[in-house]
Amino acid sequence: MSRGPRVVVVGSSNTDLVIKARAIPQPGETVLGGTFISTPGGKGANQAVAAARLGADVTFVARIGMDGFGDAAVAGLTTEGIHTGFVARDAEAASGVALIMVDERGENAIAVAPGSNGLLSTDDVERAREAIADADVLLLQLEIPLEAVGHAARLARAARVPVILNPAPAQALDRELLERVTVLTPNRGEAALLSGVAVRDARAAEAAATVLLGTGATTVVITLGADGAFWADRAGSELVAGPAVEAVDTTAAGDAFNGALAVALATGQPMPDAVRFAAVAGALATTRLGAQPSLPTREAVENFQAAYVTPPRQQKG
Ligand code: ADP
Repeated sequence: MSRGPRVVVVGSSNTDLVIKARAIPQPGETVLGGTFISTPGGKGANQAVAAARLGADVTFVARIGMDGFGDAAVAGLTTEGIHTGFVARDAEAASGVALIMVDERGENAIAVAPGSNGLLSTDDVERAREAIADADVLLLQLEIPLEAVGHAARLARAARVPVILNPAPAQALDRELLERVTVLTPNRGEAALLSGVAVRDARAAEAAATVLLGTGATTVVITLGADGAFWADRAGSELVAGPAVEAVDTTAAGDAFNGALAVALATGQPMPDAVRFAAVAGALATTRLGAQPSLPTREAVENFQAAYVTPPRQQKG
């Protein structure tokens, strides 16, 4: 078991059932042919795996069904060295499943049945109170009930543990929650929904970040896909360019980014270095197919940084 910085992730676990076929079927249509793969997913589990591969000592707090998909999900997390002592097994609800269809051009259609993820309760979170209080960073997303997210953030805040909230999938959030967040990490679409500013370019990202800083978070990091990430706090701001890579599948780029940001901040790295580290992890995740299979190891990120990334510039501010 690793002895790195302690990261607690409270979030979702899904099994992604993916069919890659000639076309996505229309209602009433059957498309025969194509290939099938089943992989572990869910933003919470993906970010937990991302952080573990980057050297963190990760505890995952979740609710997973007592079915075959759930057994496989827990076994996968254990193989990654993640602590699963606070993964509640639900005898009633099915484990979360995402049915994903991908066509020849890479377009997809996805239906998600959250199952047991939707039943993760404040009691489940409460059981992990000590682990959260002992963490170096708490990492959250929005694929579980907002009450559970809010309670986890409250426990962390009370213990002065920094809270990273990746507000995905996009939804409106109240000020009470946002005020408990240390680092808010929306992508373009999520930043637009939360700020009311359409994030088309870096200048718009700056405007959106300014609005978001006014809603409670201490630092805002807006991820901009191939354009990298823009971060801002009350003292300064900076656009960190995305390293140039040949992207083949952008699934889980955001999860790699968030897991890496959590690890970097948990080791005490300053924001400019942490965002650079996260941007490399996000970029590397796009160079391989799939969600968890594409999440890079610490060695891969450090090798890439040594080969291609210039040292941080002076922070503007
Ligand atoms: P999400 O996957 O949540 O929509 P983004 O698409 O913004 O999030 O990707 C997260 C991060 O991953 C980006 O900030 C960037 O650092 C990196 N990234 C994503 N796509 C690419 C790409 N095509 N080239 C280089 N880096 C990328």
